[in-house]
Amino acid sequence: MRKPFIAANWKMNTDSQYALELASGLEKAIADIQGVDVAVCPPFVYLQSVAKSLSVDGNVAVGAQDVYFEGNGAFTGEISCEMLKDVCCSYVITGHSERRHVIGESDELINKKTKAALEAGLKPILCIGELLEEREADKTSEVCEMLNRHICLIFKREADKTSEVCERQLREGLKGISEQELANVTIAYEPVWAIGTGKTATSDQAQEVHEFVRGVIAELYSKEAAENIIIQYGGSAKPKNTKELMSCKDVDGLLVGGAGLKVDSFYEMVKITE
Ligand code: PGA
Repeated sequence: MRKPFIAANWKMNTDSQYALELASGLEKAIADIQGVDVAVCPPFVYLQSVAKSLSVDGNVAVGAQDVYFEGNGAFTGEISCEMLKDVCCSYVITGHSERRHVIGESDELINKKTKAALEAGLKPILCIGELLEEREADKTSEVCEMLNRHICLIFKREADKTSEVCERQLREGLKGISEQELANVTIAYEPVWAIGTGKTATSDQAQEVHEFVRGVIAELYSKEAAENIIIQYGGSAKPKNTKELMSCKDVDGLLVGGAGLKVDSFYEMVKITE
Protein backbone atom coordinates (compact mmCIF):
# COMPACT_ATOMS: atom_id res chain seq x y z
CA MET A 1 0.00 0.00 0.00
CA ARG A 2 2.84 2.43 0.85
CA LYS A 3 5.33 2.74 -2.00
CA PRO A 4 8.90 2.50 -0.67
CA PHE A 5 10.92 5.70 -0.93
CA ILE A 6 14.72 5.78 -0.85
CA ALA A 7 16.58 9.08 -0.88
CA ALA A 8 20.30 9.74 -1.00
CA ASN A 9 21.50 12.67 1.07
CA TRP A 10 24.85 13.60 -0.46
CA LYS A 11 25.54 16.08 2.36
CA MET A 12 28.57 18.33 1.70
CA ASN A 13 30.14 15.85 -0.73
CA THR A 14 30.89 15.44 -4.45
CA ASP A 15 32.16 18.03 -6.93
CA SER A 16 30.46 19.30 -10.07
CA GLN A 17 31.73 16.45 -12.22
CA TYR A 18 31.15 13.62 -9.77
CA ALA A 19 27.66 14.91 -8.95
CA LEU A 20 26.69 14.50 -12.60
CA GLU A 21 28.35 11.09 -12.90
CA LEU A 22 26.57 9.86 -9.80
CA ALA A 23 23.16 11.14 -10.88
CA SER A 24 23.33 9.83 -14.43
CA GLY A 25 24.88 6.52 -13.35
CA LEU A 26 22.04 6.01 -10.92
CA GLU A 27 19.40 7.02 -13.43
CA LYS A 28 20.70 4.43 -15.89
CA ALA A 29 20.99 1.73 -13.26
CA ILE A 30 17.42 2.08 -12.01
CA ALA A 31 15.77 2.84 -15.36
CA ASP A 32 13.63 -0.31 -15.16
CA ILE A 33 12.73 -0.11 -11.49
CA GLN A 34 9.10 0.80 -10.90
CA GLY A 35 8.31 -0.23 -7.36
CA VAL A 36 10.43 2.31 -5.48
CA ASP A 37 10.47 6.11 -5.42
CA VAL A 38 14.04 7.40 -5.59
CA ALA A 39 15.50 10.84 -4.96
CA VAL A 40 18.96 12.34 -4.70
CA CYS A 41 19.74 15.41 -2.60
CA PRO A 42 22.91 17.09 -3.88
CA PRO A 43 24.49 20.20 -2.34
CA PHE A 44 22.73 23.45 -3.37
CA VAL A 45 25.38 24.43 -5.92
CA TYR A 46 24.94 21.24 -7.93
CA LEU A 47 21.14 21.06 -7.78
CA GLN A 48 20.50 22.72 -11.08
CA SER A 49 23.06 20.80 -13.11
CA VAL A 50 21.97 17.50 -11.58
CA ALA A 51 18.28 18.24 -12.19
CA LYS A 52 19.01 19.29 -15.78
CA SER A 53 21.01 16.14 -16.45
CA LEU A 54 18.14 13.87 -15.41
CA SER A 55 15.27 13.17 -17.78
CA VAL A 56 11.98 14.74 -16.78
CA ASP A 57 10.12 11.43 -16.92
CA GLY A 58 12.98 9.42 -15.41
CA ASN A 59 13.02 7.54 -12.12
CA VAL A 60 15.20 9.90 -10.11
CA ALA A 61 13.73 12.95 -8.37
CA VAL A 62 15.83 15.77 -6.97
CA GLY A 63 15.73 17.15 -3.44
CA ALA A 64 17.57 19.85 -1.51
CA GLN A 65 19.21 19.33 1.86
CA ASP A 66 17.76 22.47 3.43
CA VAL A 67 15.75 25.61 2.62
CA TYR A 68 14.94 28.97 4.18
CA PHE A 69 11.35 29.72 5.16
CA GLU A 70 11.09 33.31 3.90
CA GLY A 71 10.36 34.32 0.32
CA ASN A 72 13.08 35.84 -1.85
CA GLY A 73 14.65 38.91 -0.27
CA ALA A 74 17.42 40.16 1.96
CA PHE A 75 18.55 36.89 3.58
CA THR A 76 22.24 36.64 2.78
CA GLY A 77 23.41 33.12 2.15
CA GLU A 78 19.97 31.53 2.23
CA ILE A 79 18.03 29.68 -0.49
CA SER A 80 14.25 30.04 -0.87
CA CYS A 81 11.55 27.52 -1.76
CA GLU A 82 10.95 29.45 -5.01
CA MET A 83 14.59 28.96 -5.98
CA LEU A 84 14.38 25.23 -5.30
CA LYS A 85 11.26 24.98 -7.43
CA ASP A 86 12.91 27.03 -10.15
CA VAL A 87 15.68 24.42 -10.47
CA CYS A 88 13.18 21.51 -10.54
CA CYS A 89 13.57 20.28 -6.99
CA SER A 90 10.64 18.31 -5.68
CA TYR A 91 11.85 17.30 -2.22
CA VAL A 92 13.62 19.09 0.61
CA ILE A 93 15.13 17.64 3.77
CA THR A 94 14.19 19.56 6.93
CA GLY A 95 15.48 19.04 10.45
CA HIS A 96 18.41 16.80 9.59
CA SER A 97 20.32 16.04 12.79
CA GLU A 98 23.44 17.76 11.46
CA ARG A 99 21.39 20.93 11.10
CA ARG A 100 19.80 20.44 14.51
CA HIS A 101 22.96 19.61 16.42
CA VAL A 102 25.85 21.09 14.41
CA ILE A 103 24.21 24.25 13.06
CA GLY A 104 21.82 24.58 16.03
CA GLU A 105 18.42 24.66 14.33
CA SER A 106 15.45 24.66 16.70
CA ASP A 107 12.17 22.75 16.40
CA GLU A 108 10.50 26.09 15.72
CA LEU A 109 12.78 26.95 12.79
CA ILE A 110 12.42 23.44 11.38
CA ASN A 111 8.64 23.79 11.58
CA LYS A 112 8.79 27.09 9.68
CA LYS A 113 10.92 25.50 6.97
CA THR A 114 8.67 22.45 6.69
CA LYS A 115 5.56 24.63 6.45
CA ALA A 116 7.11 26.97 3.89
CA ALA A 117 8.18 23.99 1.78
CA LEU A 118 4.64 22.59 1.76
CA GLU A 119 3.11 25.96 0.92
CA ALA A 120 5.47 26.22 -2.04
CA GLY A 121 4.53 22.75 -3.28
CA LEU A 122 7.76 21.04 -2.22
CA LYS A 123 7.71 17.69 -0.43
CA PRO A 124 9.59 17.87 2.87
CA ILE A 125 11.46 14.93 4.39
CA LEU A 126 11.24 15.82 8.08
CA CYS A 127 14.03 14.18 10.09
CA ILE A 128 13.73 13.25 13.74
CA GLY A 129 15.91 11.16 16.04
CA GLU A 130 17.52 10.85 19.43
CA LEU A 131 21.12 11.46 20.50
CA LEU A 132 23.24 8.66 21.96
CA GLU A 133 22.81 9.93 25.53
CA GLU A 134 19.05 10.06 25.03
CA ARG A 135 19.02 6.46 23.77
CA GLU A 136 21.22 5.36 26.67
CA ALA A 137 18.85 6.84 29.21
CA ASP A 138 16.36 4.20 28.05
CA LYS A 139 18.46 1.28 29.18
CA THR A 140 16.91 -0.83 31.81
CA SER A 141 19.01 -0.58 34.92
CA GLU A 142 19.34 -3.68 36.99
CA VAL A 143 19.89 -3.66 40.69
CA CYS A 144 20.82 -6.98 42.19
CA GLU A 145 20.64 -7.55 45.88
CA MET A 146 21.61 -10.63 47.88
CA LEU A 147 18.93 -11.20 50.42
CA ASN A 148 18.52 -14.36 52.51
CA ARG A 149 20.35 -16.29 49.78
CA HIS A 150 17.74 -15.16 47.25
CA ILE A 151 18.67 -12.89 44.39
CA CYS A 152 16.21 -10.12 43.96
CA LEU A 153 16.25 -8.40 40.64
CA ILE A 154 14.77 -5.01 40.63
CA PHE A 155 14.22 -3.60 37.20
CA LYS A 156 13.87 0.07 36.90
CA ARG A 157 12.76 1.49 33.61
CA GLU A 158 13.87 5.06 33.24
CA ALA A 159 11.79 7.58 31.40
CA ASP A 160 11.59 6.62 27.74
CA LYS A 161 13.79 9.36 26.38
CA THR A 162 13.87 8.17 22.75
CA SER A 163 10.09 8.34 22.44
CA GLU A 164 9.98 11.62 24.29
CA VAL A 165 12.49 13.27 21.92
CA CYS A 166 10.95 11.82 18.76
CA GLU A 167 7.46 12.80 19.85
CA ARG A 168 8.53 16.36 20.64
CA GLN A 169 10.34 16.74 17.31
CA LEU A 170 7.30 15.37 15.48
CA ARG A 171 4.71 17.47 17.28
CA GLU A 172 6.76 20.66 16.97
CA GLY A 173 7.87 19.94 13.42
CA LEU A 174 4.32 19.32 12.22
CA LYS A 175 2.65 22.20 14.07
CA GLY A 176 0.12 24.00 11.88
CA ILE A 177 0.37 21.41 9.08
CA SER A 178 -2.99 20.10 7.91
CA GLU A 179 -3.82 16.46 7.23
CA GLN A 180 -4.08 17.30 3.54
CA GLU A 181 -0.58 18.79 3.57
CA LEU A 182 0.74 15.84 5.54
CA ALA A 183 0.16 13.67 2.47
CA ASN A 184 3.25 15.36 1.00
CA VAL A 185 5.43 14.85 4.07
CA THR A 186 7.88 12.00 4.57
CA ILE A 187 9.24 11.36 8.06
CA ALA A 188 12.81 10.11 8.40
CA TYR A 189 13.70 8.48 11.71
CA GLU A 190 17.44 8.83 12.08
CA PRO A 191 18.96 7.90 15.43
CA VAL A 192 21.84 10.36 15.68
CA TRP A 193 24.19 7.70 17.12
CA ALA A 194 23.77 5.67 13.93
CA ILE A 195 24.53 8.45 11.44
CA GLY A 196 27.89 8.07 9.74
CA THR A 197 29.10 5.82 12.56
CA GLY A 198 28.65 2.43 10.92
CA LYS A 199 26.32 1.52 13.82
CA THR A 200 22.86 0.75 12.48
CA ALA A 201 19.80 0.44 14.64
CA THR A 202 18.72 -3.19 14.79
CA SER A 203 15.53 -3.96 12.93
CA ASP A 204 13.78 -4.29 16.31
CA GLN A 205 14.98 -0.87 17.42
CA ALA A 206 13.95 0.71 14.12
CA GLN A 207 10.55 -1.03 14.09
CA GLU A 208 9.83 0.04 17.67
CA VAL A 209 10.38 3.72 16.93
CA HIS A 210 8.67 3.62 13.52
CA GLU A 211 5.58 2.05 15.09
CA PHE A 212 5.66 4.70 17.79
CA VAL A 213 5.94 7.47 15.17
CA ARG A 214 2.96 6.07 13.30
CA GLY A 215 1.04 6.08 16.59
CA VAL A 216 1.86 9.75 17.19
CA ILE A 217 0.69 10.59 13.65
CA ALA A 218 -2.57 8.72 14.33
CA GLU A 219 -3.04 10.78 17.48
CA LEU A 220 -2.18 14.07 15.78
CA TYR A 221 -4.17 13.41 12.60
CA SER A 222 -6.02 10.17 11.95
CA LYS A 223 -5.55 6.43 11.61
CA GLU A 224 -5.70 6.82 7.85
CA ALA A 225 -3.00 9.52 7.83
CA ALA A 226 -0.81 7.26 9.98
CA GLU A 227 -1.31 4.34 7.64
CA ASN A 228 -0.42 6.38 4.58
CA ILE A 229 2.62 8.31 5.77
CA ILE A 230 6.03 7.16 4.56
CA ILE A 231 8.53 6.70 7.38
CA GLN A 232 12.13 6.26 6.27
CA TYR A 233 14.95 4.92 8.42
CA GLY A 234 18.34 6.61 8.24
CA GLY A 235 21.67 5.94 9.95
CA SER A 236 24.36 3.77 8.37
CA ALA A 237 21.85 2.15 6.04
CA LYS A 238 23.77 0.15 3.43
CA PRO A 239 23.26 -2.78 1.05
CA LYS A 240 24.10 -5.27 3.83
CA ASN A 241 21.30 -4.17 6.15
CA THR A 242 18.71 -3.00 3.63
CA LYS A 243 16.78 -6.26 3.49
CA GLU A 244 16.52 -6.54 7.26
CA LEU A 245 15.49 -2.91 7.75
CA MET A 246 13.01 -2.94 4.88
CA SER A 247 11.41 -6.12 6.20
CA CYS A 248 10.11 -4.18 9.23
CA LYS A 249 6.41 -3.56 9.01
CA ASP A 250 6.67 0.18 9.61
CA VAL A 251 9.90 0.94 7.72
CA ASP A 252 8.85 2.31 4.34
CA GLY A 253 12.15 3.48 2.96
CA LEU A 254 15.61 4.77 3.70
CA LEU A 255 17.44 8.07 3.92
CA VAL A 256 20.96 7.16 2.92
CA GLY A 257 24.15 9.14 3.50
CA GLY A 258 27.48 7.41 2.84
CA ALA A 259 26.11 4.51 0.79
CA GLY A 260 24.34 6.98 -1.50
CA LEU A 261 27.63 8.34 -2.77
CA LYS A 262 28.33 5.32 -4.97
CA VAL A 263 26.11 4.21 -7.84
CA ASP A 264 26.69 0.52 -7.11
CA SER A 265 25.79 0.54 -3.43
CA PHE A 266 22.80 2.84 -3.80
CA TYR A 267 21.50 0.87 -6.78
CA GLU A 268 21.84 -2.35 -4.78
CA MET A 269 19.73 -0.87 -1.99
CA VAL A 270 17.02 0.21 -4.42
CA LYS A 271 17.09 -3.21 -6.10
CA ILE A 272 16.80 -5.06 -2.77
CA THR A 273 13.84 -2.86 -1.84
CA GLU A 274 11.99 -3.30 -5.14
P1 PGA B 1 24.64 7.74 6.87
O1 PGA B 1 23.82 9.13 6.91
O2 PGA B 1 23.86 6.81 5.99
O3 PGA B 1 25.99 8.10 6.29
O4 PGA B 1 24.72 7.25 8.27
C1 PGA B 1 22.43 9.15 6.94
C2 PGA B 1 21.90 10.56 7.03
O5 PGA B 1 22.49 11.38 7.74
O6 PGA B 1 20.88 10.89 6.40
